[in-house]
Amino acid sequence: MVIHRYDILVVGGGPAGASAASAAASRGMRVLVVDKRTVPGRPVQCAEYIPAQLARDIAIPKEAISQVIRFMKTTLPDGTISKIRAPGLMIHRERFDTFLMDEAVNKGAHLLTGVRAESLHSNLVRLRTREGREEYVHAEVVIGADGPRSLVGQWIDETVSDFVYAMQVRVRLARPMDATEVYFDRKFYGGYGWLFPKNGEGNVGVGIKPHDLSGWPLSKALESLVNDLESKGKIMRPYHALAGGLIPVKPVGQIVKGRFALVGDAAGLAHPITGAGIAAAVISGRMAGSWASETVRNDDLSILNQYTKELAGYLGRALGHGRKRRCFMEDKWMELDTIARFCWPGFKEYHAN
Ligand SMILES: Cc1cc2nc3c(=O)[nH]c(=O)nc-3n(C[C@H](O)[C@H](O)[C@H](O)COP(=O)(O)OP(=O)(O)OC[C@H]3O[C@@H](n4cnc5c(N)ncnc54)[C@H](O)[C@@H]3O)c2cc1C
Repeated sequence: MVIHRYDILVVGGGPAGASAASAAASRGMRVLVVDKRTVPGRPVQCAEYIPAQLARDIAIPKEAISQVIRFMKTTLPDGTISKIRAPGLMIHRERFDTFLMDEAVNKGAHLLTGVRAESLHSNLVRLRTREGREEYVHAEVVIGADGPRSLVGQWIDETVSDFVYAMQVRVRLARPMDATEVYFDRKFYGGYGWLFPKNGEGNVGVGIKPHDLSGWPLSKALESLVNDLESKGKIMRPYHALAGGLIPVKPVGQIVKGRFALVGDAAGLAHPITGAGIAAAVISGRMAGSWASETVRNDDLSILNQYTKELAGYLGRALGHGRKRRCFMEDKWMELDTIARFCWPGFKEYHAN
């Protein structure tokens, strides 16, 4: 039996996992990151927008920036349009994820790709390689950065319980845009449609709560939005790069249990209304990676709880506010034209209280 010994095991090499590994490796920890994908970050399952304020906090490298966004335009079912200043960046997600992982590896983290964390056996994590080989890891701290359906979350009985299902295509734009566009439609229950510009191209997508998928399949909702945008002369064929995924819209109860910590989507840290989770993934990863390092250095598991505290200080209010607004919005979905302005950040009223 092959047993690898590390200070910290990070399961998942997306933005959360790469950031956790970087933070820990730069503090001198022996870190192993495993990702079941051959290339972490590929295929891209993301609309690639980051609000300016969060983009500043995570310092996006120049080569990962696609274009600058100035406004957000929101359209309600009754045709009302709101346009507000909403500066942000469209990024090249694959380049961004690669940059973060390269940084982690350059700082000394050991990366294994095409390797899936499979199960927990007391203090050993069993890995399975693409070729079917079993290996085991012993680590003082395990960081679950394995996305919305986190296996590490299952090991500690902390899983995300509320999701939006999303699907998108890459399109060509008819003309340049400097705004993200968001479309509310009663048929997109619990979610919304989007058109986010990327220098001549754009990401068009739809997110919907699962209970409604039988009546209005996601692919149909996406097709309807694409046709609508095409008939308005905003986008052009061909459409390609179909991608989809789950967006957590409710944080888990506890992000730290014993020697386990959850970060990013595994902890359900995407914004409950907008679904934006890239910045939260990076920030939570950095925090968890540095507290995990302190935990190992001092041989004191209680230190890991500092991650919970620090993250609550940074994100707690935004997540709490967003979650309340989401519950209200879902309750009153048929009154979307009236309530959306209190539930969606594209209206001034959302920010008022
Ligand atoms: C369609 C769509 C559009 C989105 N648009 C935006 C947007 O515009 N802006 C924004 O901020 N956010 C957006 N998000 C959310 C954002 O993509 C996520 O919040 C972000 O990727 C979370 O990063 P993460 O590192 O936590 O998880 P992920 O990026 O999901 O990474 C998890 C990694 O774990 C690996 N993994 C999983 N299980 C295992 C296992 N058992 N063993 C080994 N490896 C494993 C996976 O292969 C993956 O590489 C969108 C999401 C979707 C689905």
